This record gives sequence, structure tokens and C-alpha cells, in this order.
Amino acid sequence: MRNKVRQQDSEKRIENFSEVSLGFSDEQALQEAKRCLQCKKPKCVEGCPVNIDIPAFIKLIVENSREKSLSKIKEKNNLPAVCGRVCPQEDQCEKLCILSNKGNPINIGALERYAADYELNKSLKKQSKVLAKDDLERIAVVGSGPAGLTTAADLVRLGYRVTLFESLHVSGGVLVYGIPEFRLPKDIVSSEVEYIASLGVEIKTNFLVGKTCSLDDLFKDGFKAVFLGLGAGLPQFLGIVGENFSGVYSANEFLTRVNLMKAYLFPEYATPVDVGKKVVVIGGGNVALDCARAALRLHREVTLVYRRTEAQMPARLEEIENAKEEGFAFKLLTQPVEILANEKGRVRGLKCIKMELGEPDDSGRRRPLPIENSDFIIEADTVIEAIGQKPNPLVVKVTPDLKVNDSGTIKVDENYMTSIDGVFAGGDIITGADTVISAMGAGKKAAAAINSYIKKQRG
Ligand code: FAD
Ligand code: SF4
Repeated sequence: MRNKVRQQDSEKRIENFSEVSLGFSDEQALQEAKRCLQCKKPKCVEGCPVNIDIPAFIKLIVENSREKSLSKIKEKNNLPAVCGRVCPQEDQCEKLCILSNKGNPINIGALERYAADYELNKSLKKQSKVLAKDDLERIAVVGSGPAGLTTAADLVRLGYRVTLFESLHVSGGVLVYGIPEFRLPKDIVSSEVEYIASLGVEIKTNFLVGKTCSLDDLFKDGFKAVFLGLGAGLPQFLGIVGENFSGVYSANEFLTRVNLMKAYLFPEYATPVDVGKKVVVIGGGNVALDCARAALRLHREVTLVYRRTEAQMPARLEEIENAKEEGFAFKLLTQPVEILANEKGRVRGLKCIKMELGEPDDSGRRRPLPIENSDFIIEADTVIEAIGQKPNPLVVKVTPDLKVNDSGTIKVDENYMTSIDGVFAGGDIITGADTVISAMGAGKKAAAAINSYIKKQRG
């Protein structure tokens, strides 16, 4: 049988922001690793967007070589402790694992985390060598999310001198400002970022490309190529009446306050978050669940409103299960139509209608259809909209030659090159909101493409 990770008890964990999952014990990891059949043609590897040699790293766990197991993962993945925690393995490597036919795939994510956590004990952590060579070209990487970090690490490994520009005061992108501490502790992200810096990547924070300097300025400054890993951090709204009332947050603002600015520790940290007593979160993805679970930990009564059914929720399966255990109300097949406020302009409720499922839409999921005369009101003093994010638009706005698709994503060719020679892009900025590992996969491919481009330029 598949081993499950240990977790903080659900009643205790809603009282704190500490990590919910406690990972495998040594014994569990060994048991789980021994279940792996070491397939000759391992399908799991095909399911991994960065093609980690999964059976090889699992075998090293069986052989009690945890350090070597981590090195094996790091051949392909620069952020193993992050991926072991937040990748949707059930849709990727584990989905293709031969044992998933019997409903018992290897718990690859938990084993990856087990190998990666070996290094969390700082005394075991080896400082990596600076790999950049003085005579090789300078490359600028803009954005320090999973796409930018991966591109930067792969390029510095090839000997390039890489500078990573980040507009926020800390690096990590969504990993630091979006995903909450209880799913992904921030010291783990900073430890992975430190590792990448120790390879020789120069990191410049508080640097907003498009404002602090333009893409042209980067080339004038001597960079020979630029990678844009700008992410999709622009919040989307439903466009219903009442969105300007006080007490309405985008998921982005709410999570940034709570995670990046540590509002859950206010007044020890300066940023507060005003969420009243009753919170309604709109959406069914990871972002919505993160908002709902964070609000619950701020001791609020929380209702999650989603217009489809639980089976259609795009959030990770493990997180849906965790959220259900934590015990807030799920209002499924429910569509918000108006935000209501009191005479002072503060939210007092969310008017909704009930939905039913019709024929499949373009996404292949059955389309939710409104049920006539089914409207009702959910009392609330805060509404958080978590219905999706769009690509960050600033660089595009100030760079007219940079071509975009209708959705605002930057257009790239098969080599991740944009409409501007020498400017590459990858991650959520070219796909729209996606996953950590797909952003990393794009970062890897873009780094290889930048290497080929530079070699061609050398002639
Ligand atoms: P980002 O992580 O968005 O990083 C982009 C970076 O670029 C940011 O740091 C930004 O500040 C910086 N930047 C933008 N413009 C500029 C500029 N002009 N100059 C300088 N810097 C700039 N995925 C999963 O796989 N599993 C999950 O469980 C999961 N949960 C999520 C929960 C939340 C709340 C959110 C929001 C997303 C979640 N995702 C999850 C999605 C995943 O985090 C993203 O797909 C991934 O982070 C995209 O990586 P990226 O590098 O393209 O962009
Ligand atoms: Fe092991 Fe499953 Fe991969 Fe086979 S497919 S090597 S059993 S993890």
C-alpha cells in the first residue's frame, strides 16, 4: 500500500501557520522507496516536465544514500524541496506510474521532499562552487519565480554571468508571496534561492524592469540576451456589482499581505489584514483554497463559493482533502452575482444563484448553468476573489515591439524567443497561470535555447 505523509492534526493546525505536512519518517521513506519496481521504461519520468530520473533517485533512497539521491534530483531540478511540496504529482509523474493502474502509485512527491529535506539541516548543506566564467557573456533574467530561477541556474551552470532582476524585496515569485507558509515554509524557498545564488547568480531585488530600466537599457548595459519570467500576477475580477466596496480583496492582495508581509503576525509585523469575522472566498483552484485556509487560520468563519462541483475543482487533490478536513463550508454549484454593502460601504454579504451542470464546454468540463429564481445571500464582511490571474503587463506596455496574444501572454517561437531578437520568455507569462513545474520546464528549455542563440552570435 502507498504510504501517506504524516500531517499536523487538523484541529491543531488551523490554530497556526506552520507546515501542515510533516513528510515521511526514515522508515516510511524506505518502505515507499522499496515499492518502486525500477521499471526499465519508467513512464513516471515522461510525466515529469523536467524529466527527473525518478527510479534512480528512489533507488538511492533504498540504498540509504539520501545525499546522492538529492544530487540525482538536482541534475534536473533546482528546486526539489519546493516541487516535493507543491507539484500536482497526481496529474504528472504519479499519474503515469505503472502502479497507478492499481490505484497505488509510488508517492513520488513525498520521496522527492524526503531527499530534498536532507539539506535543510544547514550543517549538511555544502556551499556550491561559483560556476560563472569571467570571459563568458552576461545574461539578464527578469523575474525570480520558478521560471527565472531555473533559467538563471541552468545558464550559470553553462558558465554564463547571470544577473537576476526581481521587482519585490525578496526572490521566489509566487513561492514567497502567494503560496502560504503552511504549505510551503518560506525558509525552504530562501534556502533554495540561496543555493542558486551560491552557484554564482547575482540577484538584484527591488528592481522593476520596465520602470527602473528598459529592455533596451539592459542590452546597452552589455547583456547579450534577456529572459522574461514575469509570471501572471495581475488579478482578475468577476465584474459583478459591488467590487469596489470596502472588504473586497483580490486573492493576490490578500495572500501578499498574509504571506509576504506576514500580516498573520501583526502587530509584530507592520502590515495588517482587515478581514472582519465572516469571509467568503470565490474560486476552486489552489489560489482559492490557499485564501480560504489562510482566512480560517486568522480565526474567521469561512465559506468557499465555487460554480462547479468538487470533482471539477482545479486545485491539487491533497489540498482539497486537507481543506475538507479543516472544516470550512463549501458552497458548490454556486455563482456570485452581486456584492452587498451596508450604509458605510462595508461588505455585508454576497448574493449568489444556484447552478446545475449542462453540456461540456471548451475545457471539456460540464458547463454550469444558472437555476432560475434560486438566488440567496451569504452573510459576509469580506469577499476574496480568487478566480484567476493574468500576465503581468508592465514590460509589454513599455516595449511596443514585444508581441502578445489576446490573453496578454507574451508570444514566443519554438525556441522561447519573443518577437524581439535576443529576448526570451517562459513560465506563466507565456502560458497564463499554470504550475511551478511547467514554469521550471520552460525555464530549462529557454536556457538551452539562449545557449544556442549565444553560440550562433559568436559565429
Ligand atoms: P512567478 O512565480 O509569478 O514569478 C514571477 C516573478 O517576476 C515575480 O517574483 C514578480 O515579482 C517578478 N516580476 C514581474 N514583473 C517584473 C518586472 N517587470 N521586473 C522585475 N521582476 C518582475 N503551482 C503548483 O505547481 N502547485 C501549487 O500548489 C500552486 N499553488 C499556487 C498558489 C497560489 C496562491 C498561486 C498564486 C499560484 C500557485 N501555483 C501553484 C502556480 C505557480 O506558483 C505558478 O505557476 C508559478 O509560480 C509560475 O512561475 P513563474 O516563474 O512563471 O512566475
Ligand atoms: Fe517506480 Fe512507478 Fe516510476 Fe515504475 S513508473 S519506476 S514503479 S515510480
